[in-house]
Amino acid sequence: MKIAIAGGSIAGLACALTLTCTGHEVQVFERSGTPLKGRGGGVAILRQMMRFLEQHGHHTRAMLAVPTHRRRWIDSQGAVVRDDPELLPFSSWDAVYQSLCSMVAPGVIHYGRDVASVSQDAEGVELRFHNGTPVRADMLIAADGTSSRLRSMLFPDNTVSYAGYLAWRGLVSESAFDPADVADLVENITLLHSADELFITFLIPGQGGSLEPGQRRFNWLWYRNEPDKAAVDSFLTDRDGRRHHASVAPGELSQPSLSYLRGIARDRLPPVLSRLVSATDAPFLQAISDASSPSFAIGRIALVGDAACTLRPHTASGTSKAADDAVSLAQALQMPQETEAMQLDVEGLLANWAQARRRAVEPLMLEGPKLAHSFGLGYP
Ligand SMILES: Cc1cc2nc3c(=O)[nH]c(=O)nc-3n(C[C@H](O)[C@H](O)[C@H](O)COP(=O)(O)OP(=O)(O)OC[C@H]3O[C@@H](n4cnc5c(N)ncnc54)[C@H](O)[C@@H]3O)c2cc1C
Repeated sequence: MKIAIAGGSIAGLACALTLTCTGHEVQVFERSGTPLKGRGGGVAILRQMMRFLEQHGHHTRAMLAVPTHRRRWIDSQGAVVRDDPELLPFSSWDAVYQSLCSMVAPGVIHYGRDVASVSQDAEGVELRFHNGTPVRADMLIAADGTSSRLRSMLFPDNTVSYAGYLAWRGLVSESAFDPADVADLVENITLLHSADELFITFLIPGQGGSLEPGQRRFNWLWYRNEPDKAAVDSFLTDRDGRRHHASVAPGELSQPSLSYLRGIARDRLPPVLSRLVSATDAPFLQAISDASSPSFAIGRIALVGDAACTLRPHTASGTSKAADDAVSLAQALQMPQETEAMQLDVEGLLANWAQARRRAVEPLMLEGPKLAHSFGLGYP
């Protein structure tokens, strides 16, 4: 089949890989004019994503992820209150994205193609863009993220809801610190939990993917309850006065937001953690939101990744879910040799896939808010 994919991030590229492997002709249409850069911070890499990358390329665990040895909980004075073994490998969004990009065949990804609308009939789908000629395909995959335009078009009553807390985030080079000052943070995950907030930090690969000690980066996330709508509005307004929907990118936080962040870091965090925040050049912000499509397929259109449903970050499963979406979709659409695309009951196959996928993902969708509540995060 000719398959169009809207969105060329983790979920879109994962689908491009699996569906190319199973013999389909795939085209990815990405809104951004250039390959994506510096979009996310650290990601915990669960087994499924690692296995996926290993199956499709040659990026082994050792090449992609910084190992972790201990999970250390500290208190507001910096004293260790709990210390457990932990083997979860941590990577960076960039490293995962670049590995996927390097495995997709040249010419498959079309940058600067913003999907404006889509229509479908009994034979296929038509994508129209804000710029450029329309494209026809046998089916479409919507991989356009949490704020998916396609999901809103297909299910106009469906909304994204703010979960009641923000994630302040940052990346800072390991080399910015005296090694003795950060020794306990290196190759460990360190957490501080207090009322209404949770701070987490761990090491991730350096900007070019380096895993060399000294060249890696500390990734930190500071989840903080923020029920006040006016405060959320103000934090999501960038330094040029633009109100963003759900996130403010590195380098774009307003001066009042930066001063606020540095102030609370000084007041509320032990020195070992406040040092990380104050040394971060370009912190960024994400409002934690819940989004879930009423169905993961409609007609000849399938929804994957965060466009299908957004998992809370505490499950550390977003990239693995995207990989599983891609693998399961390719399996569901596998055609016996010699089958013509027009002979395939695409709608029926997608409907079955969507039901099975929802059953598989539902436990993770429920687990995220439960984990958040266990930390006192989000609306009760
Ligand atoms: C705070 C936080 C921490 C996280 N931590 C982890 C973690 O530790 N482990 C983990 O596995 N996951 C984590 N995640 C989740 C993970 O990053 C995502 O689930 C995963 O990357 C899948 O994203 P996606 O490809 O579906 O969507 P996105 O990355 O949002 O990509 C959507 C793409 O679609 C493009 N697009 C949008 N609209 C259009 C359009 N109209 N036309 C064409 N293109 C369009 C966008 O430009 C973008 O490239 C975290 C998320 C958050 C918010």
